[in-house]
Amino acid sequence: MSPSPLTHSTEASPRPSDAPPDEADPAAIAAAFETQGRTALLWRRSTARDRIRRIRSLRSALLARRQDFYDAFASDLAKPVAEVEASELLPVLDEIRHAIGNLRRWMRPLRIIPTPVMLGTVARVQYQPRGRVLIIAPWNYPLNLCVGPLVSALAAGNTAILKPSELTPAVSALLARLVGETFPPSEVALFEGGVDTATRLLDLPFDHIFFTGSPAVGRRVMAAASRHLASVTLELGGKSPTIVGQTADLRAAAETILWGKFLNNGQTCVAPDHVYVHASVRDAFVIHCRDVIAARYGAGPDTQRRSGDLTRIVNPRHTARISELLSDALNRGARILPGGDVDARDRFGAPTLLDRIAPGSRIMEEEIFGPLLPLLDFTDIDPVIADINARPKPLALYVFSRDRGEIGRILEETSSGGACVNHCVMQFAHGGLPFGGVNNSGIGNAHGVFGFRAFSHERAVLRATPLRTVRMFFPPSRPSRTRLIRRVGDLLRLPTIGGW
Ligand code: NAD
Repeated sequence: MSPSPLTHSTEASPRPSDAPPDEADPAAIAAAFETQGRTALLWRRSTARDRIRRIRSLRSALLARRQDFYDAFASDLAKPVAEVEASELLPVLDEIRHAIGNLRRWMRPLRIIPTPVMLGTVARVQYQPRGRVLIIAPWNYPLNLCVGPLVSALAAGNTAILKPSELTPAVSALLARLVGETFPPSEVALFEGGVDTATRLLDLPFDHIFFTGSPAVGRRVMAAASRHLASVTLELGGKSPTIVGQTADLRAAAETILWGKFLNNGQTCVAPDHVYVHASVRDAFVIHCRDVIAARYGAGPDTQRRSGDLTRIVNPRHTARISELLSDALNRGARILPGGDVDARDRFGAPTLLDRIAPGSRIMEEEIFGPLLPLLDFTDIDPVIADINARPKPLALYVFSRDRGEIGRILEETSSGGACVNHCVMQFAHGGLPFGGVNNSGIGNAHGVFGFRAFSHERAVLRATPLRTVRMFFPPSRPSRTRLIRRVGDLLRLPTIGGW
């Protein structure tokens, strides 16, 4: 039976979610890639109107399947309907609204003021579609992270091939139907499958690859892209640190951090991974956290299992991974504050806070990507900054503090893809901000104009005017010309030919 529109099933799906996926038909992949090559050439001339029409059809298709998405998310992740709306549909609909409202402006060539040496020329940047693009998506927000980039790809005038995750088969199958009913494969095609399908796609000479997933697979994608020198956007993950300073509003910090952490039950790339909390406020912070967890999900595992607000872990393998992270930390002396219940059979993970984390624990080495939140005490911010800088650059960093000096220091002396002050996760949702990582957490940006540019080639176009100052550089060289060039160089305080 389907859940009603405003509820969801807390039952774990009976599907064999660790079973190997069916792989896509190689001939269908080759055919779609080939026909998209012809479309991509035609679409170089596409107008904003053409592109908006395509994006509108995508929006209509999404809205027509709202209930189907609720059902598919209930099957794959037992995801609450409110979360499907807030973290899957709403961000994509907002991306669509933003693109439709701004596309004409984004597409307009950028006029460039001539530098002094370039007097006598007119220059602009032309935003061209890259051509055929490949979008590979992860399982944790399977609609948002597959269709969101597609909006930017279409806005920039590209054809696209999509490869959603094999770990959320119900959502992926629904996306396949939606794409198949909305676009011909010569424009947008979607292939379900796992590593084999992704590898086959990565063998093709796409013009751009937009990958969202783990840093480990991101490296493989970049290596594959290098064979054809395809440009890449890599939206990766990592361990996003959170700092709760001595002056923080502790109640607000607990409410916000735990929302960001237990949204999608910790399976969020920008979730707070671990929290450095000032030792003087640690106990008070933990009391607030206990209250917040009990009020939102129930005080013990039995009520939490029945909670309509806790998404399940994606499959038994990932649930077992979380259980191993927890056991390893406990074996090394960690203490559970609230939580600790993890059940692979039911794919259930209770919201869990831990402290007394021993150095070298796996939970501090790997991205947690589940409902475990380690708390680390600090008294001096310097070692916290040093610890953050000693690790790979994270996707996000969060500071909860009312001390402007402390906030300023942390933002200045650390690096991360994005950051929030007294907030978390919401930097993802701001259509006007670039969303992306840095080095280990990613390369390039998504969302709004940044997504449009990721899928566009910024082509430099220079036009001569009748002034034709370039003539002074034409051979044969004469002393009068060399003198003229020197004069120009002197005027600009540039090294001249003779001065090199
Ligand atoms: P993943 O890297 O395992 O898989 C992502 C995609 O790559 C899937 O479609 C998968 O089929 C494909 N894939 C897997 N192995 C492959 C291989 N060897 N060759 C080619 N393709 C392969 O990631 P995941 O487990 O689906 O997602 C979780 C990870 O993604 C986390 O690290 C998380 O932080 C990150 N993530 C990042 C963002 C972001 O926007 N930066 C968003 C969501 C998730």
